[in-house]
Amino acid sequence: MPEDTVRLMCPNLTCRKILAVPKSARGKTVRCRSCGTNIRVPSAPAIAKAAFEDKKSDKPAA
Ligand SMILES: [Zn+2]
Repeated sequence: MPEDTVRLMCPNLTCRKILAVPKSARGKTVRCRSCGTNIRVPSAPAIAKAAFEDKKSDKPAA
């Protein structure tokens, strides 16, 4: 599976289909092809933000 896709689960409890959307869709809304629910694609995964914060605090002062 290429890393240039974002996988989302449809929030519709009667659908819950896994959708693969391109990273270029971040911050936009996509429509589930199965049930038609509009799903907002998160602009960045929380885990990446946590890694960034950790890297910042680990930076040497001198
Ligand atoms: Zn759906």
